[in-house]
Amino acid sequence: MSKPMGPIPPEFADQAGMLRVGGARADELVARAGDTPLFVYDAGMIASRIARFRAAFGDEIKLHYAIKANPYSQLLNWIANKVDGLDVASAGEMHLALDARTDPHDISFAGPGKRDVELEGAITAGVTLNLESEGEAARALAIADRLGRTPRLAVRVNPDFEIKGSGMRMGGGAKPFGIDAARVPALVRQLLSAGADWRGFHIFAGSQALQAEALIEAQRAALILAGNLAEDAGAPPPLVNLGGGFGIPYMAGDTPLDVEAVADILLDNLNSRSQVLEESQFAIELGRWLVGEAGVYLTRIVDRKESHGKTFLIVDGGMHHQLAASGNFGQVIRRNYPIAIAARMNEPGEEEANIVGCLCTPLDRLADDVLLPHADVGDLVAIFLAGAYGRSASPEAFLGHDPAKELLVGA
Ligand SMILES: *Cc1c(COP(=O)(O)O)cnc(C)c1O
Repeated sequence: MSKPMGPIPPEFADQAGMLRVGGARADELVARAGDTPLFVYDAGMIASRIARFRAAFGDEIKLHYAIKANPYSQLLNWIANKVDGLDVASAGEMHLALDARTDPHDISFAGPGKRDVELEGAITAGVTLNLESEGEAARALAIADRLGRTPRLAVRVNPDFEIKGSGMRMGGGAKPFGIDAARVPALVRQLLSAGADWRGFHIFAGSQALQAEALIEAQRAALILAGNLAEDAGAPPPLVNLGGGFGIPYMAGDTPLDVEAVADILLDNLNSRSQVLEESQFAIELGRWLVGEAGVYLTRIVDRKESHGKTFLIVDGGMHHQLAASGNFGQVIRRNYPIAIAARMNEPGEEEANIVGCLCTPLDRLADDVLLPHADVGDLVAIFLAGAYGRSASPEAFLGHDPAKELLVGA
């Protein structure tokens, strides 16, 4: 019995013959890059996601890109001036964001465990620090004092709710992220009395949500929470970052998020927001929804073999580049990402195949028992949904193979 795979993104789903990414043939892209394995990202697809967000949310909600989803420099340089801000979570990402010539005031730096050198770098550059604890706040104030600078500080709130059904939970209950909501007003007052440039709140409640209703609820709760915290603190927040969490369909049965439904209700709720938020700006920070579907991982079959009645196609890539497709990046049960034989888009399935990577570990499975057109040594395999948490979220050094190549097309 073959097993299902997730949905191929709409831009690729109806293609026939050789897969095209951004109008270019997959085999030509590999020739351009020099070799497989290769990540290709279609800038046009990212642009269309950005346009869809703008059309739905208008000017009232700023769009930030969370660069941990995909920090590839060509992509980052391209996207930097198409969004309103970049959210980073390490000094390394901050330097990539600054190199992309983003105004430091449009960069915010979140993440637990920021070292003193990272705090100093951000304060010196004029980047906003999203504080994750009172201890971090104290260190940031002391460093700013020593530097004679006014630090830009926002408070990341650990909200008492999380996005229901979200793939990864980062809010609600005991968490390493953010400061428990009840203690936030006191911290804001302390930041203000220390003379910091308080930038507002960051409320991130989860990731990979596909149900509009779950996001609507989380955003409604975040707005109310921001209003209550600001009233308690006695200070209006310049910016409320409402988090993100927009998901994309990865697995069989997943359905796309109704972004317009989320936007309509959020804009409604904004109209009736608390008085203390009257002058505030609002932002949503997105990673995978912007870039995830735009990426394709191309890898070549190097061997084809049978074992106990099953066919194995062994490719020159694997989980060291695209960990998530192997099921080892936070998934509970391994399910198949969408995959295709690049030269035979939309041809009927002829055989059940197991596609495995070249790492000498049984974890390196890229597709289990999928029905595909016949494929042989030399053929290109396309693994979709590789635009977010691909190369940078994979154990590239494991087993010592070369890194994957990357290309941005259609920019
Ligand atoms: C990871 C992360 C994001 C991006 O999440 P996606 O699921 O890729 O949209 C946004 N904000 C914060 C704080 C994060 O940690």
